[in-house]
Amino acid sequence: MGLGFTHAGYRDLLSRLLAAGYTPAAFEDAEQLLAERVTFVLLRHDIDFELAPALAMAQLEAEMGLFSTWFVLVRTEHYNLFSAEGSRMVEEILGMGHRLGLHFDCAAYPGATEPELNAACAKEAGLLEDWFGVDVPVVSIHRPSPAVVGSDVGLTAPRLHTYMPLFSGPIHYRADSRGLWRYGEPLESPAFLAGKPLHLLVHPIWWRDEETTPAQTLNDFIDRRHGQLQASVAANSAVYQPGNR
Ligand SMILES: [Zn+2]
Repeated sequence: MGLGFTHAGYRDLLSRLLAAGYTPAAFEDAEQLLAERVTFVLLRHDIDFELAPALAMAQLEAEMGLFSTWFVLVRTEHYNLFSAEGSRMVEEILGMGHRLGLHFDCAAYPGATEPELNAACAKEAGLLEDWFGVDVPVVSIHRPSPAVVGSDVGLTAPRLHTYMPLFSGPIHYRADSRGLWRYGEPLESPAFLAGKPLHLLVHPIWWRDEETTPAQTLNDFIDRRHGQLQASVAANSAVYQPGNR
């Protein structure tokens, strides 16, 4: 593409999908659309680090008449869905017509059995449904173990999960993990060239205004979080002033 992992590059990717006749779809509709032989794309975003870059990407998609599914972590140290700012950003994304999914981290439940993980997953998804007032029918598992990849619903039942065979077999799957398309650019895949359904995992944090390295992107994220923590501590305590040690 030449534009790399930039917003311009993402816009280019989306316009080429649209030009090739792809329509956006929700995971829960995929089986039906497959049966109807529709040319569709499942746009999936797992939010591992930060909500703010998600907003810009959600906006870009909405402007182009597309929607995607945003999978958010409930149990993470990186962001807070239930803070005033966090909830506002999620609501803004949903207000543009995007879907909400649960990004579930098994590591938050050390030693849990599969039935315990299933109960925990239901609890987290229920929490999102109550808080944001939308359905959350699909789960994406954060850093899935090999046992999860390609497994059937077990862990997340009755909800679907994105590593079910349906979402990587008949629907061609590509991911931008760690700031690169590890298995090649999606629009160079035989599936795209044949107009077959696609499932694209795009992490908003890697797509920036200008191309940079993944390590730099994460350092920038840590700097922003550090600044936010300083400001928040200062706003909540007269004892602390940013910069004073
Ligand atoms: Zn993740």
